[in-house]
This record gives sequence, C-alpha cells and structure tokens, in this order.
Amino acid sequence: ATPTALVAGTGRGAQLGILVRGPEALEAARAVSVVALDKTGTLTTGRMSLVGVVAASAEAVEVHRVAGALESASDHPVARAIAEDRPVDGARVEDFADRPGHGVVGTVVSPDGTALRAVVGRPELLEREGLTISPVLHTALDASREQGRTAVLVGWDGEARGLLEVADTVRDGAADAVAELRRLGLRPVLLTGDHEAAARGVAAQVGIDEVVAGVVPEEKVDAVRRLQSDGTGVAMVGDGVNDAAALATADLGIAMGTGTDAAKQAGDLVLVRGDLAVVADAVRLSRRTLGTIR
Ligand code: ADP
Ligand code: MG
Repeated sequence: ATPTALVAGTGRGAQLGILVRGPEALEAARAVSVVALDKTGTLTTGRMSLVGVVAASAEAVEVHRVAGALESASDHPVARAIAEDRPVDGARVEDFADRPGHGVVGTVVSPDGTALRAVVGRPELLEREGLTISPVLHTALDASREQGRTAVLVGWDGEARGLLEVADTVRDGAADAVAELRRLGLRPVLLTGDHEAAARGVAAQVGIDEVVAGVVPEEKVDAVRRLQSDGTGVAMVGDGVNDAAALATADLGIAMGTGTDAAKQAGDLVLVRGDLAVVADAVRLSRRTLGTIR
C-alpha cells in the first residue's frame, strides 16, 4: 500500500472511532481471518457486581472486609466489584502484588494493628501461596461457575476462608458485532482467563461457539500462536493488562478504548469508544484502504 492511502485510511479510521497506531496496522488487518475476543471488559461491560459471599471458617462480613481491602488496591473489574460496598474499617494494605490473570496478594493491616497476609483470586493462586481449600469451598466454586458467575476465593492463615461471586453483563450490541464479523467471513473465538463454565455462558449469549478458557496471560499468547499456526491471520481484541502480550502477538491487536493503558499501548488499533461494532468497521476499513491502491 502506498503511504498516502494508508494515511488516508488512518483519517477515515478516526472518523469511525478507531485510533490507528501506525498506518501499517491497516495492512495487517487485510490478512485476518480469525478474531479472538477477550471476555471480561471486552465482550462484557467489565462492570461487575458482587452477587454472593460464601464463608467457610470465618464470618461472611470478615471475608468481604479482607477481600475488599485487598482488592481496593487493584483496578481489575473483579477487584472493583469486590471492593465496592465493602465493610470499611480503615484497614490499609501493605506489600501488595497484583498477579494479572490470577488475583492479588497483600497484607491487610487493621486499625488495631492486626495484620493478615491474604490472597484473593483463582484457587490455583491460593494453592500456590500455600493455602488449603476445603471440599465445601470446592463445591461452592463449582456451583457458582455452573451459574455462569465468576467466583474467586479469599484466604489467610493457611486456608481459603470464603468465596466471592461476581457477575457481569454482556455489552449491548456484542451479539450483533459478532454476527457482523461472521458476515465478513471472520471466525470469532472467545479467549479468557476465566473458567470454562463462565466463558460458555457468555459465548452462548453472543453467538460464539469456539472457546479457549482458563488461560493465564502467557497462555493467551500461546493460544494466539496456535490460531496463527497454519498461516492464519489473527486479530485479538482485549482490554486488560493480561491481554497486552497477546495483543502484541496477534497480527492485528485491537485494544478497547475503555481498557487499560497496557492494552492500548500494545494494540495496533484502539477502539476509542469501546464499541465492538467498530471491530468489523476496522476490518472493512483496512480492506477498502488496501483495495483502493491495488
Ligand atoms: P479475562 O480474560 O476474562 O479478562 P483475566 O485474565 O483478567 O480475565 O482474569 C482471569 C481470572 O483471574 C478471573 O476470572 C479471576 O478468577 C482471576 N483474577 C484476575 N484478577 C483478579 C483480581 N484482581 N482479584 C481476584 N481474581 C482475579
Ligand atoms: Mg479483560
């Protein structure tokens, strides 16, 4: 493509609400035949809310207090839901670490000086941090996942103490956007760090049948590479810190404008308003831009 055509394409992109970070991005879009879409914050609004707390060997209010305090230090959608409306007692968090795609760890220090080293996140993270998970909590995890909810555990002092269930809503227009991708001959794939059951629930609502679930950020990269393996051009749409590496690996990385800076920096295109219908617009724009100069 001539530089002039690409620059013109970039200008048309701006009108559509697509920030083109480097005109070459439009060239990459031409070869794309698979579109991998992240779930939380991409197909869904990412505005999650806490819908349940299950306590085990602790009071429910304590489960919410400790998890809420720790999550107040993270900006993940799951974290925001848990931190919102938490019982606030002036606790502070020390030695905090975000484990993208897994959860958070840190020390919650109460006003009376009591310090708890706590973990909130996937069961695998708690196990890795040396906490045991009772059969009761495993059963509760399975039950909430079957309902399509995202469930995370919170634990301290050697064991998981409770489970927090959050639920999210699919973006308006997500199903139409997916249908439009299919009309353009593109194959949609849902790619998520969340559990399979929760992922299937969202996939069914938006009309996607191919799901890759339970992948940590590094595995999102592997999943994109696998989709690329037979020379297939892959676009990836994502919003999170956990999507940044996969966005960079994809032939065309598309970041949600509503997403994190890490994602926006890794993307070739940024959807300014976070409107999924614009993904199809971006592909059409690229096809047209390149079509005109051939
Ligand atoms: P997605 O791919 O759907 O955007 P992520 O990769 O960000 O999801 O997260 C995958 C899973 O890791 C979440 O479903 C949740 O179980 C867990 N997780 C990630 N961040 C946090 C956090 N801050 N607190 C608790 N759990 C988290
Ligand atoms: Mg996400």
